[in-house]
Amino acid sequence: LSERLGGVFDRLTKQGALTEADVITALREVRVALLEADVSLPVARDFIKRVQDKATGAAVTKSITPGQMVVKIVHDELIRVLAGDGPADALKIDNPPATILMVGLQGSGKTTTTAKLAKRLKDKNGKRVLMASLDTNRPAAMEQLQILGTQIGVDTLPIVKGESAVQIARRAKTQGSLGGYDVIFLDTAGRLHIDEVLMDEVQSVRDIAAPRETLLVVDGLTGQDAVNVATEFDGKVGISGVVLTRMDGDGRGGAALSMRAVTGKPIRFVGLGEKMDAIEVFEAERVAGRILGMGDIVALVEKAQETFEAEQAERMAKRFAKGLFNMNDLKAQMEQMIKMGGMKGLMGMLPGMAKHQAAAAEAGIDDKMLKRQIALINSMTKKERANPDLLAASRKKRIAAGAGLDVSDLNRLLKQHKQMAEMMKKMGKGGMMKQAIKSMM
Ligand code: GDP
Ligand code: MG
Repeated sequence: LSERLGGVFDRLTKQGALTEADVITALREVRVALLEADVSLPVARDFIKRVQDKATGAAVTKSITPGQMVVKIVHDELIRVLAGDGPADALKIDNPPATILMVGLQGSGKTTTTAKLAKRLKDKNGKRVLMASLDTNRPAAMEQLQILGTQIGVDTLPIVKGESAVQIARRAKTQGSLGGYDVIFLDTAGRLHIDEVLMDEVQSVRDIAAPRETLLVVDGLTGQDAVNVATEFDGKVGISGVVLTRMDGDGRGGAALSMRAVTGKPIRFVGLGEKMDAIEVFEAERVAGRILGMGDIVALVEKAQETFEAEQAERMAKRFAKGLFNMNDLKAQMEQMIKMGGMKGLMGMLPGMAKHQAAAAEAGIDDKMLKRQIALINSMTKKERANPDLLAASRKKRIAAGAGLDVSDLNRLLKQHKQMAEMMKKMGKGGMMKQAIKSMM
């Protein structure tokens, strides 16, 4: 998926002037990518429509390149939908004991997340926490929470066989008040699928518990299903937020977008593993990047805007269009690359490039190489830089020695320059030079 999107944006950013049809075509591929990232169909459709409306607006024509603008709009819109408004992290735990109700399907990670959050509140906020398992379906479930409690040093409500979920909730409330706890976690039973019995039980528990927060725990690897789950739980029980688990796996995080779009409820935390510390406050930027799998292309766009002066682009474009591309031009380009974070930074930011980084390093394509090549150009005379064809064997030796390098290094540079010059000439004839240079920089 990441490669697919990388491909889409590669094409866009290289293309220069985009027509409205190009935007639509590109967004069709973005839509497929979203679906592959597990975003539900209606949410993906809606999202694409919004981006299309924005992308075909005035901003696109004014931008650096339309392709880069589309990338930014897609990314910004993702973050906007994911982040929503209001802070995601702080749990409402004033007026102790504050009850936090944990709901969700079986196996979504409720019990694990309960313990993780309890530990967090204890360690970070110094809160006294009580956890109670309301999972009467599987006796092992209660013991699971008890074992986790012992492990993290958080109290659990003693297990009494034969009680109903509501009875346990009641006892937890009483124990919470009597025991002077700040926070009570109620870890409910899940089902494999939504059913009436489950919903009735959770509703009754909610009525008894009067929770300050009702957190829906959802497996981040589920896509389509997640939306139904969220809709059901929010409609029947009312949720105050979502915790996405298993974001350490292959999941693309599409569930996050679906949840947000459908329920409008904030995603508060993400689970990143089975360990008790593997939980983090939700960050929209990170998940947006993950859904798109496109590296930090937006950062690249912004960086390019910062460092590149339009004037320089014009000037160079004019030269290149005439088929002029000498050593000074090559040097300017290399310096530009270093300014933008060097080969490593550039490649890390480009979609699909990260995986080539090792190969590139092996081939000696790195910042050191750039600097060596700049040193070679620096040791040329003015005349030689303007006209590399002058370079006969004796001159080559002098230049290489001046840079402290071998003639073979210089030959490699010359070959590279020749290839680029030819490419420039071709592009210049096509008349798409200016756009190409801008998008290249
Ligand atoms: P519950 O049925 O909703 O209470 O789910 P559990 O808390 O028992 O979790 C089910 C399984 O998922 C357990 O093996 C957990 O260790 C695992 N799990 C929970 N959260 C995460 C997570 O964020 N990442 C990973 N990799 N595994 C998780
Ligand atoms: Mg459980």
